[in-house]
Formats: sequence, C-alpha cells, structure tokens
Amino acid sequence: MIFNKLHIFSIILIIQMNYFVSLQYQKQNDMVALQKFTNLMQLFSYFKDEQICREYLATIRWNGQVVCPYKECGHEKCFSFSNGKVYKCAKCRKKFSVKVGTIFEDSKISLQKWFAAIYLITSHKKGISSHQLHRDLGVTQKTAWFMLHRVRHTFGLITPSEKLSGVCEADETFMGGNEKNKHAHKKTEGTQGRSVKTKSAVAGIVERGGELRAKKVPDTTGYNLRTFVYNNLEFGSKLHTDEWWGYKGLAAAFKHKFIKHNEGEYVNGDVHTNTLEGFWSLLKRGCVGIYHSMSDKHLQQYIDEFVFRYNTRQFSESYRFDTMLNNINTHLSYKQLTDARNNRKVEAEQGSFGFYPTKFTDAELIRLKMVIKELYGDLDFIMQIDFNDALKVVANG
Ligand SMILES: [Zn+2]
Repeated sequence: MIFNKLHIFSIILIIQMNYFVSLQYQKQNDMVALQKFTNLMQLFSYFKDEQICREYLATIRWNGQVVCPYKECGHEKCFSFSNGKVYKCAKCRKKFSVKVGTIFEDSKISLQKWFAAIYLITSHKKGISSHQLHRDLGVTQKTAWFMLHRVRHTFGLITPSEKLSGVCEADETFMGGNEKNKHAHKKTEGTQGRSVKTKSAVAGIVERGGELRAKKVPDTTGYNLRTFVYNNLEFGSKLHTDEWWGYKGLAAAFKHKFIKHNEGEYVNGDVHTNTLEGFWSLLKRGCVGIYHSMSDKHLQQYIDEFVFRYNTRQFSESYRFDTMLNNINTHLSYKQLTDARNNRKVEAEQGSFGFYPTKFTDAELIRLKMVIKELYGDLDFIMQIDFNDALKVVANG
C-alpha cells in the first residue's frame, strides 16, 4: 500500500513545529519570576512607562542576545538605537522594534495596557469578557475583543512535549447547544444527546496532580477519542474513563478501568473521572457566565485559555505572567483572526493525521502497530496507510 506523500509531509511539519515551539509548562518548583507582583496595582507601579515595558519584553524575549525577528533572516547580530526603541539587523539591514513578530506588532495599544490585559486574562480564574476588559483598560470593546483573541491565540501555542503518565482520566463533553441537553449522554444509553449538529464535542485527558489537555473533536466516536488518548498518554499508564464505547479497546495499551455512569456509579475506589468533570464544569460556567455565547470557530482558543489556567494553577501570578510573555512570539492579524475558513482548514489538516509525532522505541513501535491494526483496521482512512512506513517516518524524525 502506498503511504500518502501528504501524510509524510504533515508528519514532518508537525515534528518541526514541535521542535520550534519548544515552550512548555514548567514543572519545577523553583520558578523565579523576573519581577514579582501579586496584584494589578503592583504591576502598574512597576510598569510605569513604555520604556520599562519594552526593556522587560526584550529581556524575556532575547535575554541580552537580540535576534532578528524576520523569519527569512533570524540573524543574531543586531544593533540597538534610541535607548532600545529601535533595533537594526546587521545582515538584512531591516529596522525593527521589540514588538515585531509578537502579538503586539501593529498594535497602537501601549505595552502597559497589553501587560495589564495579559495579567487580567491569566489571573481571573473564570476568564474575563471583552466588555469587562474594555471598561478596565479604557479601550473600545472592539479593541478589547481583539486583544483577548490575540492573547488567547497564544495559549494554544504552548505545545506539550511530553505525554501524560501515571494515573489519568479521560472524558468528553459537549459545548453549546441547549443547556438541558449538555449532560444527556451521561443519562441515556445510545447516541441521544451526542449529536454534534448544535453542539461541539470536546475530548479531555488529565493526569492526576499534573497537566490537562483538551481538544475539540469532530464527534465522540471511538476513532476520535482513542486517537486523542494515544496522542496524549504514555503507553502502560493507568487510564480511567466511563463506559462509553468510544473508549473500548484501549486496554491493549493502557491499564484501563472504567466506571458505569449509566448504572449510577461515579466513584469506585480510585476509579473516577471527577478531576476532569470539575474542569468541564469550570469551562462551562466560564462560557455561560463570561462569554455568553461562544462561537464554534473560536472554541479551541477558549478551551486553550482554560487549560492554560488549569496547568499553571500552582504558578505565582508573576510567574504565570512571564510564562505568557515568553509565548508571544507570534503575530496574528485581524484578517487571520476573522478568516474562519482559513482557521478551519489549517485545523482540519493538522488533525488529519491523528498520531503523536514523537520518537518511539522499537518495542513501542511493534506494540503500537498491533494496537492500531486491532483498533482501526476497519476504517477506510487507516487502511490507506502503511503503518510500517508511517511509523518509520515518525520514529526517524
Ligand atoms: Zn535580519
């Protein structure tokens, strides 16, 4: 069977993306923020003018080694002018400011307001609406909306480099649609309440005491849920789910235990999905209370925002702020943001190959091959792929 060239290309692309976007949540306990502040007043009293903001951003971004931000260049020798207001690349001769190549590029909003926005967005447990941000910062509601989306866009760029392990819970939920239908799948057998016509399905997995991952999926069929689990969970880990058939067959690769929700069972010893249920309710309350109606187009970004807050829950306010600033090296124009079709297309392409692009050991390769054939052998899409070749490509990076 022929291994589709497009798939090889997308695997390589994803691998490269993982290398370049190497930022991730830090697990260390000795996290030191560049500047300590525990409330908005302290933030403002430190970032009292644009000069200080610029210097702070430059330190976080380059740490003394200014790199040309133009993608085609990236030269490491640059000159600084006007007290750090302007830089010039020694190679391509282009001038740039510290904002170029970040979410602040082309923005007339002061860095001080941007910093305050980032602080407000990341420290409010339930999120902040564009209406609130507009009142808090004295910008128009449209500007606040755009700022929120630019910041939110960067949450999803924090790409995890490791799979989850230990004791994990996987579960799925539906966002949007009729309130009273939201938990229907927990009460009824079969497919009622699982329609994605008016709702969006979201798959989630959490390591107890560790990180959480959540992703919008086309539906809650086994293919999507199992692929999601494989993408995020280390082989041999403990996995707890409910009895939804979409999770069946995972016992081949994980220590899989499940609880019988439709028999009224919610906890059986340490087998439960309560950690994830807690996160779903936080996410849903955030959507209802803050964002009112959440457009499907931006749903993944909202999810990423809540995941970021969950995964940085033990960070100090200032360390969370620095982590966020560390991750602003992406430019998102208004056009990109509002171009729904574009976003969806990219998303679809990235999601078309569901397996985690990582380096597998030989033993894992053999195991994975067996499991994949067993689980997905009946699907046309999978049948088109020669997994030997696919995994070799993946394994050799
Ligand atoms: Zn340059």
